[in-house]
Amino acid sequence: MTGKTLITPAQNTWCPGCGNFSIQHAMKSALLELETEGLVLDHVVLVAGIGCHGKIADYMDLNAFYALHGRAIPAATGIRIANPDLSVICHVGDGDTYAEGLDHLIFGAKRNIDMTVVVHDNRVYGLTTGQYTPTSPVGFKGRSTPLGTIERPFNPLHLAFASGATFIARSYTRRLPHLKETLKAAILHKGFSLVEVFQICATYYDIHEYYDQHVYELKDHDPTDPLAAEAKIREWDYNSDAPIALGTFYTAEQPTFEETLVQKTGKKEVDRIARIHERFSQAI
Ligand code: SF4
Ligand code: MG
Repeated sequence: MTGKTLITPAQNTWCPGCGNFSIQHAMKSALLELETEGLVLDHVVLVAGIGCHGKIADYMDLNAFYALHGRAIPAATGIRIANPDLSVICHVGDGDTYAEGLDHLIFGAKRNIDMTVVVHDNRVYGLTTGQYTPTSPVGFKGRSTPLGTIERPFNPLHLAFASGATFIARSYTRRLPHLKETLKAAILHKGFSLVEVFQICATYYDIHEYYDQHVYELKDHDPTDPLAAEAKIREWDYNSDAPIALGTFYTAEQPTFEETLVQKTGKKEVDRIARIHERFSQAI
């Protein structure tokens, strides 16, 4: 036990009421509980994308890496391959990962890299003051769509399922115990874990009343049944008034990219990538 509180003294600039506080709190609690079960906090690496969510890299007292916009998953992939002893957690945004970094989400899932990707999905670009993202509903009025967006949102969980993610879940920032337990399960899962968190953006898209009325927690759902998982994932299309399920939709056991690489190369390739990383870190 390190006795860490996991909070840094950095000045917090999130808006009052922002759901990022809840995600930070839930992640902190999840990690501290996992530490009592054997997780070594010094072996945890947080990789953040660009957006309001990304400031979590400054606020959590963990090894952290700020990636380029949409590029948290490839940075995390390099970290995992270079050192498979590390637990890698990506905090990313919906604009960040469902738009700029969408191809990386697909290939991270396809390769089944062992990492946890936590999407702070407030369904808006918050840092750039309120533009629509791939999960904003039709009619969303923001800086770039004053008459309301005319694009339909897509379902990123369905995309992750089709791409091969082996853990797919959704939670909500106003269901803190559920969020903490979901994060713990995702971190413990071996393989690519996607946790979509509906996060309130208090300034540009506060729809907590809508979520409070529509969300429900999954019960009697078998996440190892792919057909049941896909049906639940498709139950709501990010646009309709259908009920919104929270919980773990899908889990599967598959070999990870890293372990297959070690099996095939006898660790040679991993050592080569680790040397490149070392040279790269010395260069910067
Ligand atoms: Fe949070 Fe929205 Fe403020 Fe960004 S703009 S800090 S997401 S409330
Ligand atoms: Mg966003």
